[in-house]
Amino acid sequence: MDMNAAVLHKVDDLRLTQVPVPVPGAGEVLLKIEANTICGTDLRYISGAKTTGVRPGVIMGHEFAGRIEAVGEGVEGVPLGAQATCSIVLSCLRCDRCMGGREHLCEKLRLFGSAVDGGLAEYMLVPREAMDHGNLVLVPQELPATMLALAEPVSCVLNGANQVNTQPGDTVVVLGTGPIGLLHIAVAKLAGATTIIAGGRAGRLEPALAMGATHAYDLTGDALTKQVLADTGGRGADVVIVAVGSLPLANQALEMAAIGGRVNYFGGFPKGSTVEMDPNLIHYNELVVTGGSNARRADVVQAVNLLSSGRLEVAPVVTHQFPLTELDAALEAVRERHGLKVAVLP
Ligand SMILES: [Zn+2]
Ligand SMILES: [Zn+2]
Repeated sequence: MDMNAAVLHKVDDLRLTQVPVPVPGAGEVLLKIEANTICGTDLRYISGAKTTGVRPGVIMGHEFAGRIEAVGEGVEGVPLGAQATCSIVLSCLRCDRCMGGREHLCEKLRLFGSAVDGGLAEYMLVPREAMDHGNLVLVPQELPATMLALAEPVSCVLNGANQVNTQPGDTVVVLGTGPIGLLHIAVAKLAGATTIIAGGRAGRLEPALAMGATHAYDLTGDALTKQVLADTGGRGADVVIVAVGSLPLANQALEMAAIGGRVNYFGGFPKGSTVEMDPNLIHYNELVVTGGSNARRADVVQAVNLLSSGRLEVAPVVTHQFPLTELDAALEAVRERHGLKVAVLP
């Protein structure tokens, strides 16, 4: 039996292609995909801006939600029809990084949707290695597939947020109001932040407020820094998250942080870029500066639990849906930033 799949044949050549439906071997599971959301990283894979770890001929899609369609020999505790997703991080579990608690930065990291076949297809195989590693995550309580697909970006946001350790009562600034910035706002709210200040484009201020921001501004540069200082009585924010890879924000985030503040560079910056910054802001103010990329299996489990329980409300993030057969239109909507998250439903 054949299925439709979004195959990245080579750079700039992503096409719906008929491929055989995978048959799960021993220890493997087949997911019937119900939704796959698209993110900026997918566009970078397609255009060739990001080539590391990309296998030509791969089925793309790394934000997917599905249901157990079939299980191979020896698979136990995985009921047919159960709603499920899977951590996209396939790591070796034995290098220094894995052993040090950073499996998502593994030396031999392979990701679903770039190295391993992903979810932009009617069905997706969870290979034996991923099953053995416990990558498959069953959903405790059913939720809309488009929400479950967001478990992947939410897991990455949780990894970033865990590094700045937002506390109840904190003031959090989120710079950038794309889907990732919006998810950071929702997670900061859940962590108990009482003031959440978002900075982003004019059209994205309403969604930022809907996700839990208490203030939202389409200001940039000094005007935004001044506004944050004004909103915090001059002390600055406990936490500043840079959710967009804009270089001027690297130093600006430090200027907005309170004494002892925690800063997270969550968005990747352009490859090879450098930026001027004032190191004394870190020195005298005792700032903690962190990063974040990808997520552990545990972060995915946490994301699924938060979404499934309804505690983390992310519905406003998915604004567009397309069938898989309209893949090009879906990608165009992401490129043109028509909405926030675009979901593809096979
Ligand atoms: Zn993504
Ligand atoms: Zn490793």
